[in-house]
Amino acid sequence: MKTLSLLLLTGSLLHAGSPTSVIFMIGDGMGPAYTTAYRYFKDDNSSHKIPRTVFDTMLVGMNSTYSHNSVITDSAAAATALACSHKNDNGLIGLKKDKNGQIMTLFEAAKAKGYKTGFAVACSMTHATPAAFLAKGGHLRNNEAGIAKDYLKMTKDGKLKFDLLIGGGEKYFQKAFKDFNTTASEHNITLYRNAYDVEKINKLPAMAFTVYGDYPHFAIDEIPENRHRVAKMTKRSLQLLENKPFFLMIEGSQIDWCGHLNDIACAMREMEDFALAVRTAKQYVDTHPNTLLVITADHSTGGLAIGDKVNTKDPKTSTEEKARTYTWYKNIIEKIKGSSYAIAKVLRESKDINSTFKTYTDIGLTTQEYNRIKEALVTKKEKIRIIVNDIINKRSHTGWSTHGHTAVDVQTFAYGKKSDKFRGSLDNTDISKKLFEVIEGK
Ligand SMILES: [Zn+2]
Repeated sequence: MKTLSLLLLTGSLLHAGSPTSVIFMIGDGMGPAYTTAYRYFKDDNSSHKIPRTVFDTMLVGMNSTYSHNSVITDSAAAATALACSHKNDNGLIGLKKDKNGQIMTLFEAAKAKGYKTGFAVACSMTHATPAAFLAKGGHLRNNEAGIAKDYLKMTKDGKLKFDLLIGGGEKYFQKAFKDFNTTASEHNITLYRNAYDVEKINKLPAMAFTVYGDYPHFAIDEIPENRHRVAKMTKRSLQLLENKPFFLMIEGSQIDWCGHLNDIACAMREMEDFALAVRTAKQYVDTHPNTLLVITADHSTGGLAIGDKVNTKDPKTSTEEKARTYTWYKNIIEKIKGSSYAIAKVLRESKDINSTFKTYTDIGLTTQEYNRIKEALVTKKEKIRIIVNDIINKRSHTGWSTHGHTAVDVQTFAYGKKSDKFRGSLDNTDISKKLFEVIEGK
């Protein structure tokens, strides 16, 4: 018995002292209404009890996201806060005052402690959120070639700042470097291309480009095997980094883009992919207890609201339906087969608006809705995708207050070693402050 308790004690002491690996997941634009909507979206209506989601099982608090110059942050300022623990002006990656690069990013701090570092994102590698983990000094967020240059700047002790990057946007690296292939090989970096074929990544350091340009498809428009691409990238990244303590950042990048469009079906399919990625990470922590998982959003997008009053005036509304008083019709959203971009495209090519709309949405158009689409196709005065979203939002009782971001606090989810540190009401800079502490062994 004594031996056993001694062994247990030694084991836990060893554990306490060894570096903690970190999985930091950011749902871009994923405000609280998104995780709520996702819970109801995933419910199968089999009982009145609605199952908890993976997010619900790890909720520990909220964090404020205001930036240096506005109560509403953009992704650049939020990413700087989450990667460096400093408030920034909207639009800027890293701080302008940090011209000499003195302010550490989480990747640099992790590297200094001998960690492996990496990220996997569903946008270009140089887009705002991932950029703040590797680029510094106050770049304008749309200067993606300038940002790309910073990625290959060495740490103080002459090391590359990353081991694994997965994402789109090879074109920015081609633009930033005269001969990017040669530059990469001089840095001993293996380049991989071809979308989400992540299994072939097997040699680090690596940069794996999912697309040459900026934008991978939305999950909802992807071919079936790539619909869960963030989950796929997460799983492979964990396999590739796990030999050492590691710091891995994963971004569900396109939740935000669907929010900007006010496209609820698009947003829910992005949430589905991100939730699967989160489940993958959580399972990893279950089998690797020396790991911390932290999940948050950089801000909320679109002012998403879930629900409206039941239309009691419509004679077709059943008594049972009227008794609900208020509701959100997730069954409408489930049947949508493409993003509003994709649906607008097929409508532009269609000879039969009614049947095309029905095929892609399972919604029968009213005469008024039909005429609005028809007129927009002819006059081009209104964007088709806006009409598509208006119809789906109205039918499903989904509300949006803006095509931009909002100031609402976002949730903090944490699981595994040292996850208690993230409890309560925090600021986004506190999240990274605590992550720096974890890397420092505190
Ligand atoms: Zn955004």
